[in-house]
Amino acid sequence: MGRLAMRRLALAWVVLASLGADAAARADEVRPAASRPLHVGAARLAAADTEPGQWMAHGRTWSEQRYSPLAQIDETNVARLGPAWVHATGTLRGLEATPLVVDGVMIATLTWSRVLALDARTGQELWRFDPEVPRAWGRHACCDVVNRGVAWWEGRVYVGTLDGRLVALDAKTGERLWSVQTTDPTRPYTITGAPRVAKGKVFIGNGGGEFGVRGYVSAHDAETGERLWRFYTVPASKDGPHEHVEVAQAAATWSRESTFESGLGGTVWDSMAFDPELDLLYVGVGNSNPYNRVLRSPGGGDNLFLTAILALRPDSGELVWHYQTTPAENWDYTATQHMILADLEIGGRTRKVLMQAPKNGFFYVLDRITGELISADAFAAMNWASHVDLETGRPVETGRAEWKDAESFVVPGPGGAHNWHPMAFHPGTGLVYVPSQDMAYPFLADPKHEHRPGYYNTGEDFPAMAKSIDGFERALKFCSPTHLTAWDPVARRQVWRVNKRSEINAGVLATAGNLVFQGGGGDGILSAYRATDGERVWSADLGVGIMAPPISYRVDGVQYVAVLVGVGGSAGLNFSVLESRNDGAVVAFKLDGRAPLPARRAPTPGRVRVTTDQLDPAQVEQGRVLYGTHCFRCHGVNAISGGLLPDLRHSSRQTHEQWRPIVLGGTLANKGMASFADVLSPAEVDAIQHYVVSQALREPTLLESVARFAAEQGLCIPASWLAR
Ligand code: CA
Repeated sequence: MGRLAMRRLALAWVVLASLGADAAARADEVRPAASRPLHVGAARLAAADTEPGQWMAHGRTWSEQRYSPLAQIDETNVARLGPAWVHATGTLRGLEATPLVVDGVMIATLTWSRVLALDARTGQELWRFDPEVPRAWGRHACCDVVNRGVAWWEGRVYVGTLDGRLVALDAKTGERLWSVQTTDPTRPYTITGAPRVAKGKVFIGNGGGEFGVRGYVSAHDAETGERLWRFYTVPASKDGPHEHVEVAQAAATWSRESTFESGLGGTVWDSMAFDPELDLLYVGVGNSNPYNRVLRSPGGGDNLFLTAILALRPDSGELVWHYQTTPAENWDYTATQHMILADLEIGGRTRKVLMQAPKNGFFYVLDRITGELISADAFAAMNWASHVDLETGRPVETGRAEWKDAESFVVPGPGGAHNWHPMAFHPGTGLVYVPSQDMAYPFLADPKHEHRPGYYNTGEDFPAMAKSIDGFERALKFCSPTHLTAWDPVARRQVWRVNKRSEINAGVLATAGNLVFQGGGGDGILSAYRATDGERVWSADLGVGIMAPPISYRVDGVQYVAVLVGVGGSAGLNFSVLESRNDGAVVAFKLDGRAPLPARRAPTPGRVRVTTDQLDPAQVEQGRVLYGTHCFRCHGVNAISGGLLPDLRHSSRQTHEQWRPIVLGGTLANKGMASFADVLSPAEVDAIQHYVVSQALREPTLLESVARFAAEQGLCIPASWLAR
């Protein structure tokens, strides 16, 4: 360790020790006398640091730092950390939620927007709520039927459902108090993000940009559910009438020939933050529809407010400032990634900043009062831009990521240099811990693209990609595709990095014990790293992949670290091959915990393969195109499932006999397999079946064999080869 690092460590230790002593002196788990149990109002949230034993809001506090001031568990004793309790959720798909803990009650969300309340001391179930999302709606979810958590306000919790409802529940009983539809049910909107609350209002956005919807964020009255305002992020037309003045401002940045019929995207599907002092609600805006800007807004334009960070007045939805990360977005570079509010010493003065590390690969530090760009620096591999011009605030594109005419390998790909997985800011070390990743992706434009309801409308030529890849096998495999990057937002540089072997990333927690906790993504290892230098100081094998961000809380004087386990999401559906069955659980750890962990269960084995010698090559070819258009996002590229959803190559004879009733008749809709009768004919469904059977029967191609061999040998491409 260098001298500078030693000094930094010593300094951090002093800071941490004082923080820890301070926190211990407070009787934090005692609720303020003025508040009622299980009630979280403005006073408690504004003073969240006086109750560090609670986790009352999505990022613990309104500033969304995901830093726990608790220090009972620290780098000197973390080796004694063991399971306090395990609660099996009964789920088999992805879990991404941040649980909230208030007055000893933990509330988390599961697949299909279900809500679960547990005793935070024991893991015992208190109640469950199932909003009964029609399972066929899963077809409209780009990235699994996940949910990222509830918001808590007074005695209620709020959940957004996959089919677009905002539901208020009694936090004590789980009883439904009200439910409002926040989306047009005839459009493929989905909600996976956690609502946020402030000033008696619930804020909720939605997703669906890839399929073609128009993005917005809404505010609802927390007591009644009544909608108070809605901010549209993109215009419905060039000339209006526009719903509010900011839509007119946005319309000026779109060409007249823009694909307004597609909705244009700009969904608000995850991140928000609130500053009570400045009275500003910060909102992250997503990608375009279609992705391809040449098709989307012929003739150019910045296309506001795609990929922008918005500062809105929470009472009115009025826009105070905006910063667009990727003008004329072209690659699914959402700015919906986690935003952190902090006060930093920069250039000799304290700046109130907002920090975001969006998909496009730059770490942004903005003045959150004015929206002024303070700095933007690459934190992961990229080839689409060389840098951000700090004068203009705009990225300088390299031209190497154009894909209007020819296929192009773009870094980062649509998975982003950082996705939804929350990062964390540690005020003691001054570092931001980013679940970063290196991803490259072959963009190929569909020259005949037109918006088609019910389709994935990004403007990419998926059938051609599926044909030419041996399709996605050509997506570049990086060495250590995911990592945990400790970033200094003042010095604007990486301080340390831990490389991971999984292609699936995971959310982060920082604590006053000089620790950073993160799951292994595709693997079931939960690890603790020393916050100052990244040394791994503890790990536990939970046997099931972990994407969700851990939290920490204290009940009856005992500090816990808890996390949801269960892998999924877009990466889980496409990349991972499960090593064990994806049994979901909530797991809590404490010092000297001894609860038994559930035994690892083998994945559900494939069933009998159908064999046939009656394959028609023309139908196989037609089926390949149709499969690449409609099926691969859930059932896997080339009909090879990641293991979460059925691998169609292993379909039983009975399934093959029921093929048309399933795909057209919707006979398995209640299990999440929707009818595709609106976009597929019986003959086309038969063609897909021919293709699937052909995939079940065929031997691996030479390219696949080489790719598999390379993966087994650990051969991969260093990300630096493609970076600038
Ligand atoms: Ca997207």
